[in-house]
Amino acid sequence: LTSKRYQIERGQFSTISEEDVNFFTNLLGHHRVINDETELEGYNIDWLGMVRGASSVLLKPKTTEEVSTILAYCNKRKLAVCPQGGNTGLVGGSVPVFDEIIISTALMNKVENVDTWLGVVTCQSGCVLEALDEHVSEYGLMIPLDLGAKGSCHIGGNVSTNAGGLRLLRYGSLHGSVLGVEAVLASGEIVDCLSAMKKDNTGYDLKQLFIGSEGTLGLVTKIAINCPPRPQSVNLAFLGLETFDDVLKTYKDAKKKLGEILSSCEFIDQSSIECVEKNLKLKAPIGAHPFYMLIETSGSNGIHDEEKLNVFLEEALGAGLVTDGTVATEPSRMHHIWSIRERIAEALINDGCTYKYDISLPLPHFYKMVEDMREHLGSNILRCCGYGHIGDGNLHLNITSKEFEKDLLNLIEPTIFEWTAKVNGSISAEHGVGFKKRNYIHYSKSSGAIALMKQLKALMDPNGILNPYKVLPDN
Ligand code: FAD
Repeated sequence: LTSKRYQIERGQFSTISEEDVNFFTNLLGHHRVINDETELEGYNIDWLGMVRGASSVLLKPKTTEEVSTILAYCNKRKLAVCPQGGNTGLVGGSVPVFDEIIISTALMNKVENVDTWLGVVTCQSGCVLEALDEHVSEYGLMIPLDLGAKGSCHIGGNVSTNAGGLRLLRYGSLHGSVLGVEAVLASGEIVDCLSAMKKDNTGYDLKQLFIGSEGTLGLVTKIAINCPPRPQSVNLAFLGLETFDDVLKTYKDAKKKLGEILSSCEFIDQSSIECVEKNLKLKAPIGAHPFYMLIETSGSNGIHDEEKLNVFLEEALGAGLVTDGTVATEPSRMHHIWSIRERIAEALINDGCTYKYDISLPLPHFYKMVEDMREHLGSNILRCCGYGHIGDGNLHLNITSKEFEKDLLNLIEPTIFEWTAKVNGSISAEHGVGFKKRNYIHYSKSSGAIALMKQLKALMDPNGILNPYKVLPDN
């Protein structure tokens, strides 16, 4: 059980009673109050299968008002809750630790408005990212966020984790793209910051507090998000490289030579590719190399974009930076190549028990960390590999072993966080802190900043009912 593995004590919250269940059933009806143990199983365990809670009730509100009534009641009764979107989070934030009531946004999936002039969609927080992107594509727009979990994750989950993904390099972070947020506080109070304007400097930018706070300050119910025009032409190059130094030089060249059409720059090492080929039977489009890169361009003029990409590739090949590669323009081939990158996380789960790290590092240190960890862990493991969003300095370092071993975890942590702090990196680039990393947050945040975070939490959620045991450290 999670509580045993992580040695944590339950907070001073009430335990759910029959009367509480009756209250929720009166509000939502039988079908939207789930208390069947088998049905709850999938909501109590995280995507990685590493963290498990023991909630006995899951609620499925459809409206902001229902969320407000639920939270006001839970606050009064001191019942802890865990907001849940698509449950694809990777830091144990989306599942209860003990018996917190799960509030799922699965039925809050209405698109309210698409402003085709400014390019803004306003929707409920439970819209699945891929479905929302398909919806705005009908208006020639796109959601400025894409990630491997797009078929399951909710836009509210994305906002609550400040998800980064595959195109942050081009479209920036959600702190910029999200124009408005509506959220419900622990007290049940609805905070309406749902502006759909690109510019709105009326006082404190409160919506930012809900972006990346992982459900600890409020439950996000609606979002307005800036949608750029959907690109008319997309090209994807899959490249093989011999040294990490060549990877860095190729990235720098890509920024310079592809300029405004560069939309993604991803990095994969050989061990990650081997893992995908072995566990998912997906074949890489080129032969074996120590390193690989995916470089995507998106623009408005196919001829112009292809010409630019070809010049960049010819020069990279000519200079010996890139030794092999292939370019795809047809959607099915691009999809195949992207799935190799997007399904590494899934391949790792099939490899064994996965110890997953999501770290920001200055680029000169980026791959050194993987090499150092490999040496540090020696033969105790099945695999230590690195891939990620190199264009954002974001490394996904993963280690696998046959089964969960506490000794191995102790060998990895806190060494990995100390290493990161030494080079002024961040111990969580885009996945968040959740349950797993909260007691390591001081490696990336000053004590003054942590103290202020705790004060904000006390102000916005005085009873601490919103996603307890997450984000904030014990001490
Ligand atoms: P959940 O997992 O359900 O929840 C995540 C956190 O947000 C929890 O703390 C939860 O309590 C809180 N939360 C959820 N909804 C709300 C709400 N409405 N209001 C308040 N709090 C809420 N992440 C990236 O950043 N970039 C990637 O490239 C990326 N790739 C991934 C690939 C795969 C295959 C997988 C499995 C995950 C990946 N992730 C990535 C991680 C994950 O998908 C993101 O963190 C995603 O944003 C989580 O969305 P979700 O709806 O699944 O949220």
